[in-house]
Amino acid sequence: ASFEQIEKYDEQLNCYVTTLKEDALKRSEEVQKRIDNNELTGLLAGVPIAVKDNICTKDVLTTCSSKILENYYPTFSATAVENIEKEGMIVLGKTNMDEFAMGSTTETSHYGITRNPWNTDRVPGGSSGGSCAAVAAAECFTALGSDTGGSIRQPSSFCGVTGMKPTYGTVSRYGLIAYGSSLDQIGPVGKNVADVAALADVISSYDKKDSTSVKREYAFYDSINEDIKGLKIGIPRDYFSEGLNEEVKQAVMNSVKELEKCGAIVEEFDLSLVDYAIPAYYVIASAEASSNLSRFDGVKYGFRAPEYEGLHNMYKKTRSEGFGSEVKRRIMLGSFVLSSGYYDAYYLKALRTKALIKESYDKAFAKYDVIIGPAAPTTALKIGESLSDPIKMYLGDIYTVSANLAGLPGISVPVGLDKAGLPIGVQILGDCFKENNILKTAKKIE
Ligand code: GLN
Repeated sequence: ASFEQIEKYDEQLNCYVTTLKEDALKRSEEVQKRIDNNELTGLLAGVPIAVKDNICTKDVLTTCSSKILENYYPTFSATAVENIEKEGMIVLGKTNMDEFAMGSTTETSHYGITRNPWNTDRVPGGSSGGSCAAVAAAECFTALGSDTGGSIRQPSSFCGVTGMKPTYGTVSRYGLIAYGSSLDQIGPVGKNVADVAALADVISSYDKKDSTSVKREYAFYDSINEDIKGLKIGIPRDYFSEGLNEEVKQAVMNSVKELEKCGAIVEEFDLSLVDYAIPAYYVIASAEASSNLSRFDGVKYGFRAPEYEGLHNMYKKTRSEGFGSEVKRRIMLGSFVLSSGYYDAYYLKALRTKALIKESYDKAFAKYDVIIGPAAPTTALKIGESLSDPIKMYLGDIYTVSANLAGLPGISVPVGLDKAGLPIGVQILGDCFKENNILKTAKKIE
C-alpha cells in the first residue's frame, strides 16, 4: 500500500531520496513468516517505516541530502535502525531533508525540494520534511526524523502529523550523521500519538557507542491513556506575543481549553530569555557543525572534486563543490564564532545563555508538568518564501530551539486546519525524562 502511494505521488512530492521496493517486499515476506511463528511479537513488527537520510543504513545510500555524500554507502547501521530492524519493521527508503539538517523547509536538499502533501505550493517544513510529508501522504506509516532545533516538531506541524523529540540521550546518536552533537536527537514521526509512542519505545535504548546515551525506563506507549486530572500546564506568555499568526494562536488556546475540561490546571507564566534562544542556538549549532563537517574532505568517503592540484587544493575544491550555500554559511559562521578573539564574545556567551535557558525551564518545571505553545509561528510557508532571507527562516525556529538547548522532550500534535486548509500543530514540552506527561497530554487533544 505504501509503495502504491509512492508510485502515485512521489514524483511530485519528492519525499524520498532512495526507495527500496525490492528489499522491502522481500523482507516483509520474511517478517510475516517470523510473525506467524511467534518469533516477532512486538507491536510494530511488519510496520513500514521511512528513515531520514542522515541516519546510516548499512549498504544503503545515505546522503544527508548533500552532494558531498552522493556515493556514501555506510558499512554499518545506526543503533536506532538496528532497533527498528530487531522489532521487525520494514524500511521502505530514505527520506529527503535539508542538506545536513540545516534548514526549516527541505529546500536546501541537493536532491530537489519536497512539497507539502496538503498543498503542493507549500513547503513541508524541515529539516525532516521528507519524513513528515511521507507520513502525511501515506507513503509510509511511520518515519524516523532528527531534531537539532525543531526539525521533527516543525515539519510535523506543517504536515499535520505527530512528531516527538525525546529527551537528549534517550535515542542513541550512533550512526546519526552529526550536525550539532550536543543538540541532535533522533525521534519518531507518525499519524497519531499511539504510533509515535510505540515507535519511541522501539528506537530508545542505552548504547555504549554513544557517550551521551542514558540508561532509563522506556514505557512511552503505556503512558498515553493515563489520566490528566490535576496535571499542571504552564502557558508561556512570551510565546503568544508579536509574530504569532492569529489562527495558530486560537488553535493553541482552544486545545488548552479542551485540556482544562479534562481536569488539567492551566496557568500563564513568564518563561523569560525567549529572545535569546535563537541567537544562542545558531551560534552553538553552527560552531558544532563547523567542527563536525570538517570530516568531509574528499579523502575518507563521499564526493571528491574531479580536478585539483595538490592536497590543499583538493580539500578546497571538494568542499566548495560538495556543500550547498546554507551549509557553507553555517561552516563560516561556526568557524568565526570559534576563532580566537571571538570565542569569548560569541561561543562562550552562547553557552552561558544556554545554561540560563536551562535554568529558566528548571524553574518552570518545578511548577508545571508540561508547557504548551505553538510549534511554529505560522502554518506552512510558500515554496521559495524563506530561501532568499535566511534570518527570517532562523526566526521561525523561535518556539522549538530552546528545547534542544535544554535537552527537553517535545511533541507536536496536529489540532486542525487554518482557513487556507493548512495543518496547525501544538507543541507540548516536558521536563527531561518526562515524555509520559507530554504523550498523555497530546493524546487528549489529537
Ligand atoms: N531549522 C533549524 C536549523 O536550521 C533546525 C534544524 C534541525 O533541527 N535539524 O538549524
